[in-house]
Amino acid sequence: MTYVRRFAMVCALGALGVGAAACSGGGGSTGHPGRGEVSASASAAPSRPPTLAPGPAGLTPVFKSAPHPRGRTVALTFDADMTADEGPRAAAGEHFDNPALIATLRRLKVPATVFMTGRWAEEYPAEAKSIGSDPLFEVANHSYSHYAFTGQCYGLPTMPPARMRSDVARAFTAFRKAGVKRTVPYFRFPGGCYDKEVLRKLTPAGVTAVQWDVVSGDAFATDSAAVAQQVLDGVRPGSVVVMHCTRSAAPATEAAVRAVVPKLRERGYRFVRVSELIRSTAQH
Ligand SMILES: [Zn+2]
Repeated sequence: MTYVRRFAMVCALGALGVGAAACSGGGGSTGHPGRGEVSASASAAPSRPPTLAPGPAGLTPVFKSAPHPRGRTVALTFDADMTADEGPRAAAGEHFDNPALIATLRRLKVPATVFMTGRWAEEYPAEAKSIGSDPLFEVANHSYSHYAFTGQCYGLPTMPPARMRSDVARAFTAFRKAGVKRTVPYFRFPGGCYDKEVLRKLTPAGVTAVQWDVVSGDAFATDSAAVAQQVLDGVRPGSVVVMHCTRSAAPATEAAVRAVVPKLRERGYRFVRVSELIRSTAQH
């Protein structure tokens, strides 16, 4: 893998150590569309996953971290990446899943949000179903194909604009086919790349885009202690941490989680799913 390709992959995985802005600026004037107001209907029906109301001019709202968390809460999020053209690599033995990571989260009783691509759910339907049936987890949408939604996104293939909405819908369809029950209407852009135009295009999909404020740096990392330290240095109350659930591209994540969880608990942190952070925004 050339350096350029490797760099592209790392950022596509949302794991550069320079922060989310580096990955979310692909389309130029991304700006922050604001967190928007939380929809009244969501707060009136607490059993349904809360979402943010559309931002200015009806744009898809973007959630990055909770501005008013209830105490020391933190959401670990795991991107289950697999790109639509990676089937042959999986067939050749590459592991895009990470069962040990999921087992560790269960053993340590750490709630988490898994941003899954539809292609991943097709490759690992039993794991997708198991994750999506466990009350510890919620499954969010990371697109079907893991193609970029903006033109410049660190080497990811670019999604034709006409396919964007259907690609998001196709991921939810793949979840249903795999038997995933606990889905939430949250969407993470591949590579974190978005701009105003794509936020407008996805408005009819009714999703809340979820970014992050803490980059774990787990993509291609082999030093789990360094990943753990980066997380520990970055977490604040209400943080969203981006990590990955794919062995081949993020082999140190499970060990990093084992190191991070007890330390954050010592500091008084409680692990929550993204929906709880969004709900805390709703009820503030
Ligand atoms: Zn991804």
